[in-house]
Amino acid sequence: MNSAAASGGQRWEPTEKGVHLRGRRTRNTRPEVALRRAVHALGLRFRLHLRIVPRCTPDFVLPRWRLAVFVDGCYWHGCPDHSPAEFKGPNADRWRQKIETNRTRDRRNNLLLEEAGWRVIRIWECEIKRDVHLAAEHVAREARGV
Ligand SMILES: [Zn+2]
Repeated sequence: MNSAAASGGQRWEPTEKGVHLRGRRTRNTRPEVALRRAVHALGLRFRLHLRIVPRCTPDFVLPRWRLAVFVDGCYWHGCPDHSPAEFKGPNADRWRQKIETNRTRDRRNNLLLEEAGWRVIRIWECEIKRDVHLAAEHVAREARGV
């Protein structure tokens, strides 16, 4: 991942939460693995971490359906329900900026994938935590275009 751009010259003040809030897109997170398992159980086959367009690697793709799937963490990708509306503390501006950067990159990736003939679905982390089977069915519906 392009962490140089993310931190580009900015210094993050250390805070207690800092380490896990650094916001790098990590692979094989628990919600991601849970969703893959549930999608697999529905009989859909996927490939992991395939780079389809430069600098864009969806969490998994369903090649047969040309569908790219991203699992977006609520906090860093700006989930309307779980990303704080107001940030507090010494890093508040950086957090806001970081989330804006992520959202911009998400939109860019969606466009690049669509231009390459793929469809894109983004599943919120909280959707998976709420009901992984419903989230998997959401992916399946999208895949089959129903
Ligand atoms: Zn959420």
